[in-house]
Amino acid sequence: MQTRSQNSSCSRDSLFHRLPSEVVDIILGKLSVLELSVFGMTSKETTSYVVNYISTQKWTNKEITKEFHHPTYQEQQATIGHYKALGLLFKRCTLLLPTKDRLKFIFSRFSEIPCFMLEHCFVQDCLGFACLGGFLQTLIAGWDELECRRVFNFLCDLTNILPKTDTVIHSKPGAHCFPEVEIRLFCRKVLLDPWSNRLECQFWLIELLKLWPMVSQAHLLLILYGPLLPEEGTVGWQEMVDRVLPNDELWDLARALLLLFNKLEVKGWSPDSILGILEELTVIPQPWHVENVARLLVLCGSHLCYTFLASKALNGRLQEISRLIVYIILVCEKDGYHMNWAVKLVQQVCQVFNSDPAKLVFLQNLENTFAETTRDLFEVSVGGHFLDGDTFQTLCILLDSSARFHSKFLYTFLKRPEV
Ligand SMILES: [Zn+2]
Repeated sequence: MQTRSQNSSCSRDSLFHRLPSEVVDIILGKLSVLELSVFGMTSKETTSYVVNYISTQKWTNKEITKEFHHPTYQEQQATIGHYKALGLLFKRCTLLLPTKDRLKFIFSRFSEIPCFMLEHCFVQDCLGFACLGGFLQTLIAGWDELECRRVFNFLCDLTNILPKTDTVIHSKPGAHCFPEVEIRLFCRKVLLDPWSNRLECQFWLIELLKLWPMVSQAHLLLILYGPLLPEEGTVGWQEMVDRVLPNDELWDLARALLLLFNKLEVKGWSPDSILGILEELTVIPQPWHVENVARLLVLCGSHLCYTFLASKALNGRLQEISRLIVYIILVCEKDGYHMNWAVKLVQQVCQVFNSDPAKLVFLQNLENTFAETTRDLFEVSVGGHFLDGDTFQTLCILLDSSARFHSKFLYTFLKRPEV
């Protein structure tokens, strides 16, 4: 970084050199953040003027907004937009510096903003992380993976997020509920959510996960994308076990799994790693309600759902896949998906068994599980002193779906005598 006097001595003929520095500051002060970013790109000399100018306390006080607790949507959008423009300004005026120096210079400007730091601001709906995310997105847009990895390491050092994450994922789920939320908000709002491009989001998610073994990856994925308790805003660990969750509470998790599943060319990652994570995920903190596992699989779509069931079929886990399939069919009926989807899925899984007797055993298992599940739900429904309306309704849907599914299935079965 050049000082103003050094800069002046090497550019004696420039127009700016002939002006007193106070006048230069007045001129630069008339420019908006975006105009300043464009002006800074015109020559090495103007870059230095802009860098010196934006290093002044006066400019910092004026442009680096520290207020992130806005009540209105318009104010929130304006602040995020301002930070995106600042990202572009810092990107353009530090072009000539090596990445490490660039990051050091840039983030030294933000080091004292509490809303950008972990465990410093506890205001709900604080915009700090979203602004930092918007800033980072424009700053590093177009940087290659090596540079982005440097950014990741730099941010990890700056925020000390890795030791915090290590503590959280090696503790009982929910034991550190506020640090869990902080980690989620920081990772989602700063690193993951600003990217609309799947590849970039994949990059950051893999950077975050690859540091840990599979069980911890599953734990961290739930911290980042699991359902939240509506009142407390903390991760609803027990919800996955005790309560049937609707689509929208599982959708983020399904999206994250698909993001990973579709990125198979990454070194050290394979479809099996994702299946392993999925397997671990559905038993944290205890085995989930089967309907939640089934709904998550349905949301993940045909390819991941089939691969998950087929790998269980290959390992002879017939009871488990039968139970999952029964609940997948129930989810299809409840959530309004076409039953052909489930029929095709069962047909595909059936093909995994390579002999006719094995296929027959699988189908018998599936039929028996249908009957067992129906009976279990009925018993729960009428076993107590009162009739549980929700459970009874689920039983009715299950019976309807059973009839619909089997009619379609048998029809397909008859059309394909080789199965
Ligand atoms: Zn705040």
